[in-house]
Amino acid sequence: MENKNQQEHVHLLIIGSGPAGYTAAIYAARANLKPVLYQGIQPGGQLTITTEVENYPGYPEGIQGPEMMVDFEKQATRMGADIRYGLATSVDFSKQPYKVIIDEEKEITADAIIIATGASAKWLGIPSEQRLNGSGVSACAVCDGFFFRGKEVAIVGAGDTAAEEALYLSKMCSTVHMLVRRDEMRASKVMQDRVLKTSNIIVYWNSETDEVLGENKVEAVRIHNNKTGEKKEVPVSAFFVAIGHQPNSAIFKDYLELDDQDYIVTVPGSSRTSVEGVFACGDVQDKIYRQAVTAAGSGCMAALDAERYLSAKEHH
Ligand SMILES: Cc1cc2nc3c(=O)[nH]c(=O)nc-3n(C[C@H](O)[C@H](O)[C@H](O)COP(=O)(O)OP(=O)(O)OC[C@H]3O[C@@H](n4cnc5c(N)ncnc54)[C@H](O)[C@@H]3O)c2cc1C
Repeated sequence: MENKNQQEHVHLLIIGSGPAGYTAAIYAARANLKPVLYQGIQPGGQLTITTEVENYPGYPEGIQGPEMMVDFEKQATRMGADIRYGLATSVDFSKQPYKVIIDEEKEITADAIIIATGASAKWLGIPSEQRLNGSGVSACAVCDGFFFRGKEVAIVGAGDTAAEEALYLSKMCSTVHMLVRRDEMRASKVMQDRVLKTSNIIVYWNSETDEVLGENKVEAVRIHNNKTGEKKEVPVSAFFVAIGHQPNSAIFKDYLELDDQDYIVTVPGSSRTSVEGVFACGDVQDKIYRQAVTAAGSGCMAALDAERYLSAKEHH
């Protein structure tokens, strides 16, 4: 049995087991970097809470999210990555070798580190949103909009992402009901103008969601106007939540540069963070694309960056 209090030194440590972390592990193992990957509390990452994934290349018939992530894990294991269950609970990047504490007990030091801890969508926090999650409730219009082609849908949010997602949905859905809590949007002027000029987007100002209605799938949304108190049921087939994401970056904040929304800042065109030898990939450093394929692509970049960094260090 593993002694949890032991200290261990590893060549390359990968934190996170979504598409970014596993892809980094595949590349790093094949480059003989002997990667050790800690999975965190959600082995497989965000795709394990979805059903059908239709936009990941290589699966012509589509695939269930959890099944796809088992494939990723198997591939990383087959290449020789050491995949372990455990959560990074604190880090010390103040000097080399960098330290990462797992489950508040075990101390790992590493020559290089790849952070692939992802992000989580923010939800409104109403029970029906949880109950119908995956049955018409979604936090990703680009992922799930296609399933509601020609249908009426609702979207909650007022920022640039919400505006972008409403515009994206307006191209495939018959009507997009956009629910905005205040009497103005946070989105940039340009994005707001585009939304307001799109004939099949109806904006409901001062509107809040009481309940998503439907037994096994979304059938309507009940909203109320927070100025007049007026209640209304809007029949829709899907309910998209676009009120933001929270990157899982809290444990790194004292050491790495984060942006104003807590995303890890990477040098453009690379996975390099503000600390030499620490790389970041996937949704924890990407607030724009947030797709499995882009996360996987950036995981590949992180492994290649780490490989170059480690080999330069060895030849010094
Ligand atoms: C419901 C839903 C449906 C989606 N559908 C699609 C789709 O159809 N197509 C598509 O391309 N994208 C889809 N996405 C988006 C896609 O899931 C993400 O873009 C992708 O998973 C990001 O990958 P990632 O590797 O960066 O992080 P994540 O998948 O978020 O994984 C993060 C990993 O880090 C681990 N972790 C976090 N903190 C720690 C820690 N402290 N220590 C150790 N490990 C840690 C977690 O356990 C997890 O394994 C969907 C997302 C959701 C929520």
